[in-house]
Amino acid sequence: MTIREALTQGVARLRNAGIENPGLDTALFLAFILKTNKEKIILRDAEALREDAAADFAGLLDRRIAGECTAYILGRKEFRGLDFIVTPDVLVPRPDTETLVEAVLTIGKDQELTVLDLCTGSGAVAIALKHELPSLEVYASDISVKTLAVARENARQLLGSDGAIHFLESDLFVSIPKTRFSLITANPPYVASGEIAALAREVRGEPLLALDGGEDGLDLVRRIIDGAPSYLLPGGRLLMEADPRQMAGITLILEKKGYRDIRIYQDLSGQDRVIDGIAGCDVQ
Ligand code: GLN
Repeated sequence: MTIREALTQGVARLRNAGIENPGLDTALFLAFILKTNKEKIILRDAEALREDAAADFAGLLDRRIAGECTAYILGRKEFRGLDFIVTPDVLVPRPDTETLVEAVLTIGKDQELTVLDLCTGSGAVAIALKHELPSLEVYASDISVKTLAVARENARQLLGSDGAIHFLESDLFVSIPKTRFSLITANPPYVASGEIAALAREVRGEPLLALDGGEDGLDLVRRIIDGAPSYLLPGGRLLMEADPRQMAGITLILEKKGYRDIRIYQDLSGQDRVIDGIAGCDVQ
């Protein structure tokens, strides 16, 4: 079988199983097996695929068809052009979350800023920020030790050292040292508990801890909004990812807590995805 035939067969198998983006997944699986990248696969498509490679390829297709997500099968996911390690202990970085990075870039370009990234997961937001703005001082926290181990390994591989970011194990602000940051970012769990069961099969394989935001999805969002003013410098901003349907509710919560200059940013599909505001005077 040639690589071209393998591609055609793979796409057909995934398409028949109702998998979205069968072409991309098939190319990623072949690239993984042949230890190359998806662009090069196309250039080599007249080459023969060895029998053991063909069997491995079929095995990856089987796992995908059985409902495992592509990123967990490959152990990798690209975010902001960087190749992140992902394991079932972390949420797979989403293209939508690039909006959070872009929102920081609109604020932070020429300044010396310190950023705290809560619920850092794989470290995608924190590491992409440090990679794109090396002058940023970046702190990143997560409640899960296993998750932080993945984030640290990503920092080692993508930034050269896990010391490039200050990693902290903390339940939101509970164990964060009393420091003041210029910006706080977060992609917290924000799915309403009642909606978890209706998520795509792949998403249900991701850590519940990273998805379940309580009854209306806003349990952690509320805690972050409450806690952030004590950790932000005067004029400091809180930026959070959320569901487009939650933006009106979050705007009200922010306003009630004294945040001002509230702005909403759209993701690649034009949906409201990130909200930010400047914390009001901290009464403590
Ligand atoms: N955007 C994610 C989803 O599609 C939710 C991520 C989160 O809760 N932070 O399910």
